[in-house]
Amino acid sequence: MFINIHTHNPRHAGEWSIRNIYRNFDHAATGSPLSMGLHPWNIDPGTWKAGLDQLKKYSTAPNVLAIGEAGLDKLCKTDWALQVDAFAAQLSWVHETRKPLIIHCVRAYDDILKMLKAYNIKTACIFHGFNRNVSIAKQIIGHGHYLSFGSALQLNHVRESLRAVPLNRIFLETDDAETPIAVVYQLAAETLGMSVDDVISQIRQNTTSVFGINIA
Ligand SMILES: [Zn+2]
Repeated sequence: MFINIHTHNPRHAGEWSIRNIYRNFDHAATGSPLSMGLHPWNIDPGTWKAGLDQLKKYSTAPNVLAIGEAGLDKLCKTDWALQVDAFAAQLSWVHETRKPLIIHCVRAYDDILKMLKAYNIKTACIFHGFNRNVSIAKQIIGHGHYLSFGSALQLNHVRESLRAVPLNRIFLETDDAETPIAVVYQLAAETLGMSVDDVISQIRQNTTSVFGINIA
């Protein structure tokens, strides 16, 4: 079974996935594994606080395995101060619920690492869709966080990052890409010089340790 910790799509055959939703949190009562958060792209000054209330109401359900994706994005149109406010509010909620956090980060690694420290976040923080170089990878791991890799593993510098981090700190995902999760596992296996089965069993262990669940 391929574990896909971050997708925006319904589950495919042969895959166990955590589906991400960023609005209509009341639709979450399906019982299937989810993550939910206010994405920096969609933060609206007039409605985000109501969205936060909904998030708090529905994210305590046991099938909501993580908060997020939430974070900061220096390339998106949303006002920076507003992004910071919404991320800060969600960090307080993570602190309270003690759920893992899935992070969206674009060119804001230092800002996010500082905020995670300031809000004393002790639960697992997963920087998803990681596509940066070894030095940023090591910086994040050095703070005790996790990286999730997807189709960017086609790029050499991202492969180097995967090779540079401990195996117990990695996850794999499709995000909203068309690339099937099996292809992402194949890329990871080739990069690491491991069999796909060994990658599957490593990610299964990581999933158990971070999300507290056993996937057969
Ligand atoms: Zn995503």
